[in-house]
Amino acid sequence: MNYYSLNKKAPNTTFKNAVIKGLAPDKGLYFPESITPLPEDFYKNIDNLSYPEIAFTAIKQFVSPEIPEDVLKTIVEETLSFDFPIVRLDKNISTLELFHGPTMAFKDVGARFMARCLGYFNANNTNEVTVLVATSGDTGGAVANGFLGVKGVHVVILYPSGKVSDIQEKQLTTLGENISALEVDGVFDDCQDMVKRAFLDEELTSKMQLTSANSINVARWLPQLFYFMFAYKQLHNTHKKIVFSVPSGNFGNICAGMVAQKLGLPIHHFIASNNENNVVTNYLKTEDYTPKPSVQTISNAMDVGNPSNFIRIQELHKNNFSALKENLSSFSFTDEETKDALATIYKEHNYVADPHGAVGYLGCKAYLNNNNDDVHCVFLETAHPTKFLNVVEEVIKEKQPLPEQIQSVIHKTKVATKIGSYNELKSYLLKKN
Ligand SMILES: *Cc1c(COP(=O)(O)O)cnc(C)c1O
Repeated sequence: MNYYSLNKKAPNTTFKNAVIKGLAPDKGLYFPESITPLPEDFYKNIDNLSYPEIAFTAIKQFVSPEIPEDVLKTIVEETLSFDFPIVRLDKNISTLELFHGPTMAFKDVGARFMARCLGYFNANNTNEVTVLVATSGDTGGAVANGFLGVKGVHVVILYPSGKVSDIQEKQLTTLGENISALEVDGVFDDCQDMVKRAFLDEELTSKMQLTSANSINVARWLPQLFYFMFAYKQLHNTHKKIVFSVPSGNFGNICAGMVAQKLGLPIHHFIASNNENNVVTNYLKTEDYTPKPSVQTISNAMDVGNPSNFIRIQELHKNNFSALKENLSSFSFTDEETKDALATIYKEHNYVADPHGAVGYLGCKAYLNNNNDDVHCVFLETAHPTKFLNVVEEVIKEKQPLPEQIQSVIHKTKVATKIGSYNELKSYLLKKN
C-alpha cells in the first residue's frame, strides 16, 4: 500500500517509508491511498476466526508487500497475546476492556505492532532509528514496553514533570536498555512542541533518522482498528446497531475505528467523548475548528488542545461537514461529571471504571438519551483503573488490588534526565548520537 501526505505537497510513499519517517517531508500526516472493504464472508464468519486471524486479514492491505504474509502473521500473533473482553453493564451499554496488555493501556497494541514493524525493517540495517515521543501519560509506558530491546531503535520519551501519575512515570522511566526518559519542566504541549521542532530541525535530521511513535505514525495508528472488529465479534449476535463511544485525545483510536467502518464493519455511529478539552465537540456544534491550549483534567491522556488525527477523520469523510455529523457525535464532560459517573458505574453496575472510561460511559448515556432501544453502545475502557488510583479510590472509597503488571514496576528506580528547553533536548540527542 502506498500513502499520500494530507498536505498534498510530498510524493506518495510506501508503508515502510511512512513508518520510518513518521511525518511526510511537507509535514503532512500520511494516509492510505485506498481502503478496500473486506468480503462479506469475513464478517459472516467472524465467529470462527481468532483475534490474530481477524487482525491479519484486516491489516494486510495496509502493510503489503513490504511486510510479507508470514512475517505479518508472527507480528499480529505477538502483538495480540492478551484478551479484549466485552463486559455488559446493562442491555444497552457494554464496555470493551482494552487494558489487558503489559502496560494496561490500550496503546500497547499500536506500540507493539509498530515496534515489530520497525524491528523487521531494521533487521539488516546498521542505521539506528531514534523514536521520539511526547506523552501525556500512557503513550510513554506503552512505547517503552513495546520497543524494549528492539535492535537498532533508540527510544526517547518526553513527559511533563509532575503531570503524569506515579505509576505512569514508573512505567516509562524504569526500563533502561534502549529506552531513555526526559522529564520536561512544562506541560504536555511543551513536550509535543519540542518533538515537533526536532522533526523540523535540519541540523538534527541530517545527522540522525528520527521518527515518531505517536498516533501520527501509521504503524501505531492503524492496528487500533482491530478493537472495533473484536467488539463486533463479541456483540453481533445481539442484532442491535452498534455505536462506539471513544474517549478521545488525539483522535487516533476513533479514527482507526472509522477505517474499520470503511472496511465494511457494520458500525452505526461514533461518539467522541471528551473531557474539557473540547475543540471537536465545539466544531460539530459550530463548524468552527479552533484549537486551544490544553487544560489539565483527571482523564489526563485526553488533555489535548489540537488533536493531531482530526485531519484524517475529515479526509475519511471527504471534508464534508454534514457527512461527518451523520457519523459522529461529540460530548464534553467536566471532572465533576466524570467522578459522578465513576461512582454511578460502581453503584449501579458494580464495575470499577477509570476516568477515561467514565467519560466514554457518559458519552453513551448522552447519546442513548436521544436514541432508542435498537442501539447497543460500547464505550472503550482505555486504561486500567489502578493507573489512576488516587481518583478512583477517592471516588469509590475502596482500596483497589494492584494487578501484577503494575506491582512489578512500583518498586523500580526512576531514571530520567531533566530538561527545560528545546536546546537541551537537541544537545541531548546529538550527544547520544
Ligand atoms: C491515549 C489515550 C486516550 C486517547 O486516545 P486517542 O487515540 O489519542 O484519542 C484515551 N484514554 C487513554 C487511557 C489513553 O492513554
